[in-house]
Amino acid sequence: MDWLKTTDPDFERRFARIVDDRRESDEDVAHVVRDIIAKVRAEGDAALSRLTDRYDHHDLDKDGWRIDAEACKAAFDALAPDLRAALELAASRIRAYHEAQLPADRDYTDDAGVRLGARWTAVDAAGLYVPGGRAAYPSSLLMNAIPAKVAGVERLVVTTPTPRGQMNELVLAAAHLAGVDEVWRIGGAQAVAALAYGTDTIERVDVITGPGNAFVAEAKRQLFGVVGIDMVAGPSEILVISDKKSDPDWIAVDLLSQAEHDPTSQSILITDDAVFAAEVEDAVDVACAQLSTKTTARASWDDYGVIIVVEDLLEQGVALANRLAAEHVELAVDDPEAFFAKLRHAGSVFLGRHTPEAVGDYVAGPNHVLPTGRRARFSSGLSVLDFMKRTSFIALDKASIAAIGPAAVAMAEVEGLPAHAKSVQVRLK
Ligand code: NAD
Repeated sequence: MDWLKTTDPDFERRFARIVDDRRESDEDVAHVVRDIIAKVRAEGDAALSRLTDRYDHHDLDKDGWRIDAEACKAAFDALAPDLRAALELAASRIRAYHEAQLPADRDYTDDAGVRLGARWTAVDAAGLYVPGGRAAYPSSLLMNAIPAKVAGVERLVVTTPTPRGQMNELVLAAAHLAGVDEVWRIGGAQAVAALAYGTDTIERVDVITGPGNAFVAEAKRQLFGVVGIDMVAGPSEILVISDKKSDPDWIAVDLLSQAEHDPTSQSILITDDAVFAAEVEDAVDVACAQLSTKTTARASWDDYGVIIVVEDLLEQGVALANRLAAEHVELAVDDPEAFFAKLRHAGSVFLGRHTPEAVGDYVAGPNHVLPTGRRARFSSGLSVLDFMKRTSFIALDKASIAAIGPAAVAMAEVEGLPAHAKSVQVRLK
């Protein structure tokens, strides 16, 4: 864990190193993923079978490649009532939030008499990556599938790893609840490659969404262009901006809530009080020791955890947060609105001491699939728009082509494209 104070003479150098650290896309990962993608592309199902055996330690031919709809329904029917209610609450809140994101088509006629507009349509098939290496994520299934459904996607294809053949029943129940069409028991870069290129068994999709570890995130990055992707959503991050009035125990578990995802997750505290910072550090040690996930959480906190003590929390603290562009930012302060007004780069923001990030992971409604690795500078969390594309349209008549056509001819001529010019000219006669 790194301790930094903005008053340290070498603060800027050390902070810049943290900002530039590529936790999730080092050369080794990129190399391994390139190799996996090439194998799946060349050998299809045979490569999937071999890679699943190597990384997830089970035999697809023996355990089955696909989970059928009846098994998903049975898992849903078998849910304990409180869990069923929790999943249904989560699903209905996620659905309501994403329905409000649906974009409107445009269709209007401008002053020149030209009819213009844009029409939104869903992709035909979406591949939804649901992580499952270290933990199972029924929540990620809902966060992927519900926006896709709301967008109007016809074929929803889930891939999720089932280490040692163990399938998580809650993931299946969530698949039934969300109306998923196919569930395949494959994970990692090989699953992303199969969705992008298709194999004899798995039909290709148009867009792949969802979070995953460094291998999954890198595979999506390398396959962008062959297939659409939402964003690069890798190992989780949390940045907590807190004054000394917060309870150190609360802040400690907030930091650990992301550290427990992955040894390469990152948790950062920015505060203006060194005594409070030390209390949080102690509380992290105590709380971490009690977690069943302590090995992962400890590794993440030791290797990538950061505490930064600033002199001025609002100005300096938020300026640093903007440079970090973290996936999740908690504002545990008296006046979170003042901080939020200055915060420009974050995947999702949690305002006030009573808004833990974890509530956003499950039931708040906004999507928990969010950009990591400083990518909140230029990308956003998963939304219905990731499953849709916009087609613009133009309609001219005799009068409107006469109004704007000559300018097109002039431009085509200076660009040296005579067929362009001619195709307009013939309609001007
Ligand atoms: P995962 O499904 O993402 O990854 C498991 C797969 O990784 C395995 O099936 C295997 O194929 C592959 N793999 C593992 N080690 C490998 C190696 N050495 N070489 C090649 N492939 C290898 O599940 P996970 O590991 O539990 O990770 C889940 C991730 O999702 C965590 O990093 C978590 O932080 C992240 N997450 C991110 C968000 C977000 O929105 N950014 C949300 C939820 C979860």
